Order: sequence, then C-alpha cells, then structure tokens
Amino acid sequence: MSLSSTITSLPEIDQVMEQSMHAFLEYKKINPKQRAAFLERIAFEIEALGQELISTTQAETNLPEARLLGERGRTTMQLRMFATMLVEGSWVEASVDHAIPERVPAKPDLRKMLVALGPVIVFGASNFPYAYSTAGGDTASALAAGCSVVVKAHPAHIKTSRLIASAIANAIAFCNMPANTFQHVEGDSFETGKALVQQPYTSAVGFTGSFSGGRALYDYAAARPKPIPVFSEMGSTNPVLLLADALEKNAASIATQYAGSITLGVGQFCTNPGILIAIASPALEQFKSTLVTAINQVPASKMLHQGILAAYQKNRSNALAVNAVRNLTSEIALNQSDATALIAHVSGADFLKNEILKEEVFGPYAILIECTDIDELKLVWNSVSGQLTTSLMGTDLDFESHPELIEMATTIAGRVLLNGVPTGVDVCASMVHGGPFPATTDSRFTAVGINAVKRWVRPVCYQNCPDHLLPDALKENNPLQIKRMVDGNPYQ
Ligand code: NAP
Repeated sequence: MSLSSTITSLPEIDQVMEQSMHAFLEYKKINPKQRAAFLERIAFEIEALGQELISTTQAETNLPEARLLGERGRTTMQLRMFATMLVEGSWVEASVDHAIPERVPAKPDLRKMLVALGPVIVFGASNFPYAYSTAGGDTASALAAGCSVVVKAHPAHIKTSRLIASAIANAIAFCNMPANTFQHVEGDSFETGKALVQQPYTSAVGFTGSFSGGRALYDYAAARPKPIPVFSEMGSTNPVLLLADALEKNAASIATQYAGSITLGVGQFCTNPGILIAIASPALEQFKSTLVTAINQVPASKMLHQGILAAYQKNRSNALAVNAVRNLTSEIALNQSDATALIAHVSGADFLKNEILKEEVFGPYAILIECTDIDELKLVWNSVSGQLTTSLMGTDLDFESHPELIEMATTIAGRVLLNGVPTGVDVCASMVHGGPFPATTDSRFTAVGINAVKRWVRPVCYQNCPDHLLPDALKENNPLQIKRMVDGNPYQ
C-alpha cells in the first residue's frame, strides 16, 4: 500500500490492517527513548513543511493563518510532550511486589505495567486539521503508547492530511521505524471507516466529530465478535450558569467575554458555550442587551466547509422553529454563504419541554434559557448532563448561597470552570477533555493532555517471571531508572 491510498474494498482494508499488525509487533518492542526520538522527528518534519502546509490548509478550511500557526505549534508541542513522557517513563505505572515465600500461603513475585493495545484507527477531525487530525493528539498518544496507527483522513482537508502523512513517513524512514507503523487511508464513503473499525486486527478507535458519527463507530465496535474500545469525542453544548450576584455586579463584562467565546473560530470548537442558563432579573436584561449588541457586531464569516455551514443553518433553524424560541439577534437570512452569529432565547419551562433545544448547534450560536428561580435553573442544568465542560459565573456570595452547585457540576461535565469561558483547551497533565456520555463514549479518559495515552494501553501482570524475561520497566535493577511502586511504597 502506498503512503496514502483511497481504499474501499475489504481485501484492501484487510491488507492495511495486516500491515499495521505486523508493524505493531515490531514497534511495541522499540525502547521508549527511540520512540521519543521518533515523535520528536515527526514534530521536526511537520515544521519543515513550512508555508506549504499553512497555505494548503488555509485553502482547504478557511481557517486564518494565525489560527493555523497556533494549531501547528500545539501539534508539535503535543508530540514533544509525549516524547518527554516516554523518556521520564513513569506513565507505564510499573509496580513490583516481591515474593514472600514464607507467607502462608506463599506470596508470588508479581509485577505490573501498562502495555500497548495494538493497531489504532484515528479519524481526522474536521475542526482541528492539525491538532486533532493526522498527527494530532490521538495519533501522538497512540504512537507514544507503542501502538501502530492507521489514520482515516477527513475529506475536508485531504491535501493537508497527505502532507502531514508525508512528514510522518519521513520520520519513519529517518528513525528506522517499522515501515507501516503509520498508514494513511482515504475513502469515498462511510464504508471505509466502518470496515476499518470492524477489521479483526483493529484494537481501538479515536474519533472527534458529530454525535451520529461517533455513536455509529461505537456501535460497529460493540457489535464485532470481539468488541474493542472506541474513544469518540462528540457533540457538547457546554452549559454556562450565570448566577444572580455575578450578573448583578458584572453583567456587561460577562456578556462581552461570552460574545467573544461564542463566536471564536466561527463557533467551530467542541467547547463552544452553546447553552447559557440564568434567572430572570434586571441584571439579566442588561446582560442580554450587551451580549446581543456585541454579537450583532460580529461580521459573518466562512465556516470550515459547505457541509458544516449547511448543518449549522439547519440546526439553528430547527431550534428557531420551536414556537417558544425567539431570536434575540438581528433578523438574518438563514441561507447566506457565510455564517452569522445568533443568540436564541427560551424560558426554562419551554426548554425542558423541547428535547431538540438540547442538541449541539455547531457554529456561532447560543441559546439563553431564562429561569424563574434557582430550582428551575438546576432542573434545566441537570437536563443537559453529559458535557465536556460546564462553566459557573458566580461570586463568593453566589457560591456561599449555593455550595451544592460545584458538586453538581462534576456530575455533568469533565471540566468545571469557574468565572471563565470554556473555549481554549490547555494541553497539560491536569486537563480533562472528556465527559459523561454523550460528550464522549468513555468518561474515564481525556483526549487532551498527557493522560490521553491511557486510552491505548491495558495493564498486564507478570507472575513469577524470571528477571531476564521481564520488560525493562519491571526488571529488578530498573534499567530505565523510572519511578515505580515497590512493595506498596509509591515512586521508588
Ligand atoms: P462527522 O460527520 O462526524 O465525520 C467525521 C469522520 O467520521 C469522517 O471521516 C466521517 O467519514 C466519519 N464518519 C461519520 N459518520 C460515520 C459513519 N456512520 N460510519 C463511518 N464513518 C463515519 O463530522 P464532521 O464531518 O467533522 O462534521 C459534521 C458535523 O459534526 C458538524 O456539522 C458538527 O455538527 C459536528 N462536529 C462536532 C464537533 C465537536 O467537537 N463537537 C467537531 C466536528 C464536527 P467520511 O470521511 O467518510 O465522511
């Protein structure tokens, strides 16, 4: 199979996955320092693509150069972050429990570490052509874990994807990695992605995109004779609570802050704040007025591609078609070629009656839900559970009056923000970019940050294994010099 192939037939998919499995069996044995050097080299090769990469992506996605430069920086930083993790080594969670032969019954020698799952399929995301596509966080973390990777390129930025794939191919050659450690696949229908997920050698799947897409992949995987994990990061409406005292004191500045967050990147972020929840008050009227004035000033802009624009127009039309929903922003034609931002409004009672209003409208859109009191606000908030983020705009007085809110927030979302906006996802060890279903298909994991690697590994225990047959991380003399738990004592 060539570097980048359009494949549709099952024999071709079988061939790709057989190659991936062969590569995996070699690649997983490569020592962590060499894998780290490989990740570093991928970062180098991506940077070496220079302006050609940026110009190609700009032409394919309508994303401005500054955003692409920032995203490229994040992508290479992620690769280097996983390289550092590999060299440090403690991510394998090695533990050693020595035998106690005199105990009754005798305790065996037990040693445990995380090992790579096998070939991983990564679906490129339309809204992050670098950071969550071909060499993005899913690929970087899977390669770090010791998995081989097959990327299903996103059709919205296929030339970008091919360029990045060529950078990875250069890194494979430079670092002398197994040839098919990474493969790049294109397809002209859902059948390609479906067959990749169903292929017996596939061990796990990473996806970012629509609810329908993520759910479909999850269902294909669950229906396999041998089910596999699917880490789908799907739609999220990222509810925001605007608490009474915060609005009383800062209505205008919160509105300005949120106008920026709702329209950032033409609303094409999974953490876009799509639902604002507040209690009726004069301060809320001031918030509305400032928000709507700010939103009306945001010029219409191009979305990633025509399909996403069409979906945006359809989904917001569906919301506006609900009788009780009002459009607070300027009257706009719903079928123009650029996306205009929109703020909808509905009462708490009507929101609770209309399930369609809970669905993600991917784009520069938010619905403001006006509640009668704190009990209705909590009902509305709880009704949209299963989110990547939830934000609370409140003062000390608000949180003293309602200390239960923070605890409630942790049942709703993977990331709880106080007095900030959810757009902007920092890449670090403490980040959680995940959340209860339907935000993701597995709320125990994050797709961003160092812990994203944990999606592609499983624990294995070696019992009474002779030292020379153990992996280096578990050998008695600890040749990798990594931190381990020894006889129950952490990090020795
Ligand atoms: P998508 O439709 O979910 O597609 C993403 C990838 O998944 C594509 O490669 C697609 O394959 C594949 N796919 C989708 N459904 C599939 C199925 N049933 N079987 C096999 N493969 C399937 O996402 P999108 O193209 O990026 O954008 C569409 C909509 O998704 C947007 O309008 C937006 O509403 C939402 N979205 C949400 C987020 C978020 O983070 N919340 C991010 C991006 C998009 P093909 O290549 O064959 O089409």
